[in-house]
Amino acid sequence: MGMGCSQVYLLLSAYLDEMTDPEETREVKTHLESCLDCREKLSQLHRMCLILRKLDNPKAPRRLWKDIKKRLD
Ligand SMILES: [Zn+2]
Repeated sequence: MGMGCSQVYLLLSAYLDEMTDPEETREVKTHLESCLDCREKLSQLHRMCLILRKLDNPKAPRRLWKDIKKRLD
């Protein structure tokens, strides 16, 4: 028996970070292949991760500040 959506959802962020064990990874992959809902949740999570990583990037605020300044000029 495969995992249900709620179980997969709990594992998605770990799955993105490649922190799931091999069996979990296999279960999540199998589920994602047949479940559009969970694929969408995964891509949302993925986008959020990218945004968070960008915010962590020390170059980002400076670039942002430049944009703000440009708008003020
Ligand atoms: Zn699902």
